[in-house]
Amino acid sequence: MSGPCIFCKITEGVIPSRRIYSDEHCTAFLDIAPLAPGHTLVVPRQHVTNLLDCSADALAAVTRALPRLATALVAATGATGLNLLQNSGASSGQVVMHLHFHLIPRRDGDGLGYRWNAGSYAPGEAESLQDLLIKQLQS
Ligand code: 5GP
Ligand code: ZN
Repeated sequence: MSGPCIFCKITEGVIPSRRIYSDEHCTAFLDIAPLAPGHTLVVPRQHVTNLLDCSADALAAVTRALPRLATALVAATGATGLNLLQNSGASSGQVVMHLHFHLIPRRDGDGLGYRWNAGSYAPGEAESLQDLLIKQLQS
């Protein structure tokens, strides 16, 4: 059963959605509050919270459909580009705690975008972080 999770309920058809695709691993439906026409959410059938609690196999299964969906969305909407966005954790902007990928059709001058406040590293900082991350990945 789906419990309180809204995307489990959508996957199970308990609450309605504008579904455009489903297979044994995932469901894709229109976002109820689109950033652009065709803004689509792709969610795994199996409940996982986000990328931080998802196995590699589960992730591979749900992302298999992304290229096909992205190509169809661009073709159908006449978009000239597309953003793939995945929020993991409340501090990243995740509101619905069931893993999902946003596919957002883009076009020149559409006014969408990020505050991409690019920074820089202090001397030695990137090197330390690189070491730390390599050790973390080996543990
Ligand atoms: P998040 O911020 O968690 O990455 O994004 C959640 C997305 O889910 C939002 O873009 C929001 O508009 C969408 N959403 C929330 N509730 C519903 C719903 O009941 N139906 C649909 N289709 N989209 C929803
Ligand atoms: Zn769920």
